[in-house]
Amino acid sequence: MIEQSTETVSCSKCGAEFEADILTGIDVALYPELKDFFMQGMVNMFQCPECESFFYYEPTLFAYQDIKEGFLGIVFPLSYEKDADRHIKKFREGITAALNEEGKEYLEPVFLFGYQSLKDFLEFEDKMEIEAEIAEHICKSLGLDSFKIELPFARKHGVQRVIPIQRGLDPNTIYPATLEVYNHNQQLNSYLSLAKAISINKDLPAMLLKVKVRGRH
Ligand SMILES: [Zn+2]
Repeated sequence: MIEQSTETVSCSKCGAEFEADILTGIDVALYPELKDFFMQGMVNMFQCPECESFFYYEPTLFAYQDIKEGFLGIVFPLSYEKDADRHIKKFREGITAALNEEGKEYLEPVFLFGYQSLKDFLEFEDKMEIEAEIAEHICKSLGLDSFKIELPFARKHGVQRVIPIQRGLDPNTIYPATLEVYNHNQQLNSYLSLAKAISINKDLPAMLLKVKVRGRH
């Protein structure tokens, strides 16, 4: 998916107006190069034909989708943040109607305001993924098991998606296994956070097992 629309944009420096193709939606699972392009701030960056300065054009709605990761980010302009609830409600009404018509499944979006907030979110996700990969190796070397949990749950609770556990899948062993992983590599901050989250919420280990992704990964 690449969605675009032609709009009249005006240069943020000299005010000159010109027509430009605005990207309003991308799927980075289908077009992986677009993710780098986005992270470098190149999406909807234009050069004014009059004064040649570069400027960023903020669309009223930008959909960033990663089907492989089950992620849909809906990015509103930063200025919408003060009226967030109203904009989210309006969006939900529109999309639910459209999707019902097409009979498609509704992927719960993450709502974000401004380009930077999506960039920060994606950087955080990438960091989580790298730490998860390292943790999986540590688990193997320590004779621990690990399991993946559903991404929407991990995102909602801000916890790791790969959870260490001792063999036998006893939820009570998630906490000590997590600490073991962290003590093995104290750069894995997301595992320190996971241990803290468990110590605050005693129900979390059982909840994690409930959202375990089926099958071996
Ligand atoms: Zn200009």
